[in-house]
Amino acid sequence: MTFRSRRASNQNSYLRSMPRLNKNNTLTLGDALKVSRPRAFMMMAKPIGPICNLNCTYCYYLEKDRLYQNSSSFKMSDEILEEFIKQFIDSHEVPIVSFTWQGGEPTLLGLDFFEKVVTFQAKYRGNKRIENALQTNGTRLDEAWCRFLKRNDFLVGISIDGPAKYHNYYRKFKNGQPSFEEVMRGIRLLRRFRVEFNTLTVIHDANASYAIEVYRFLKKIGSRYMQFIPIVEREADQTTPEGLKLVTPNYENSATITNWSVRARQFGKFMIQIFDEWVQKDVGQVFIQLFDVTLANWLGTAPGLCVYSETCGEGAAIEHNGDVYSCDHFVYPEHFLGNIKEKTLVDMMGSDQQIQFGKNKRDNLPDQCLKCKFRFACHGGCPKSRIALTPDGQPGLNWLCEGYQLFFEHVSPYMEFMANELLNKRPPANIMHSKLIKRQL
Ligand code: SF4
Ligand code: SF4
Repeated sequence: MTFRSRRASNQNSYLRSMPRLNKNNTLTLGDALKVSRPRAFMMMAKPIGPICNLNCTYCYYLEKDRLYQNSSSFKMSDEILEEFIKQFIDSHEVPIVSFTWQGGEPTLLGLDFFEKVVTFQAKYRGNKRIENALQTNGTRLDEAWCRFLKRNDFLVGISIDGPAKYHNYYRKFKNGQPSFEEVMRGIRLLRRFRVEFNTLTVIHDANASYAIEVYRFLKKIGSRYMQFIPIVEREADQTTPEGLKLVTPNYENSATITNWSVRARQFGKFMIQIFDEWVQKDVGQVFIQLFDVTLANWLGTAPGLCVYSETCGEGAAIEHNGDVYSCDHFVYPEHFLGNIKEKTLVDMMGSDQQIQFGKNKRDNLPDQCLKCKFRFACHGGCPKSRIALTPDGQPGLNWLCEGYQLFFEHVSPYMEFMANELLNKRPPANIMHSKLIKRQL
């Protein structure tokens, strides 16, 4: 299973700006702002649909094969691939075009497929710079893959949930065998070939109480860019007419939270524990997506991550056959935007349906969020996780709300300090030597 819908922030991190200090060893806010990218929509490309060699219990995407029961193949055809690449490049009015390849497990397509990807990109890039990110479970990487990824400067996202006992809890092969050793073999290869990689760690019921162990492990295996994704899913008592079990917040029949979902307080405490270690030792060395986007929101600038933005809708998903959906967490018939053979990406992304989808994130907040002092940093989180009721019974509250409040409350003074350092042209890593750390930790 791959799990990288919320785009990694390791390429637009405020905190990553640290190595790029000027000769006075200061970082200007202007420098920081330049790190933010111009607006352009993104597409999570799923050229092999939901097909994967793993069978992770918590995967939200494996069951999407039921939407394509008449498909004879889940492999994106050359025709669709070329059309997608051409349109995606053409639709960008910015100098950098970033592709994200995901699944399912995209390496199942073989190197031939990705050789075609870079060939088509070269054909249509014009003066634009192309970037590629590949999200993988890492189990199929070999030397040939690493050479290709290095040669073509792919950024690789590896899904790993911590040490073996936590990782293997849910991330197993189809035959039930654990996947940890194969993932580690892949990571060792990436390091040997100096392929840039980041890690994506799902926070679930089995690893949520072991934050420091997970964090130190990720550092030890060489991860310097970490995403932690809290898993929240509801399972319907009966399958939907399309055959799905994991349902959207709008599903009206009986559904219950899955037992692998993280509880709100667990999530908050998990991120707080990692923050406390990070803020003492690792600022400017280890980059954690949630901390980056929180600092961006504290500075009042675009966080670059849909979940913590006021609105969303600027990132869609394209399936193997060219079907486009509003978001890869909303690959449901009611969020289908069209097929690339019949409509352009620009038309689909600019459609009323998609614009409304993005605005709903802001417009459907319950009163509790509207009055919340952390709304500027949280924005009610991802609509997919808004399955809770407020204490007075209003729907639409994020399942993780209590955890968000704990986290934002805890990091407030540190975020204020780091934001102030940036505004005063000083590196935020100064926090590690501040009285604040000594006084509060
Ligand atoms: S629904 Fe919105 S916030 Fe959630 S993952 Fe999709 S684009 Fe991001
Ligand atoms: S912390 Fe809770 S109340 Fe505040 S904006 Fe986030 S989800 Fe809403």
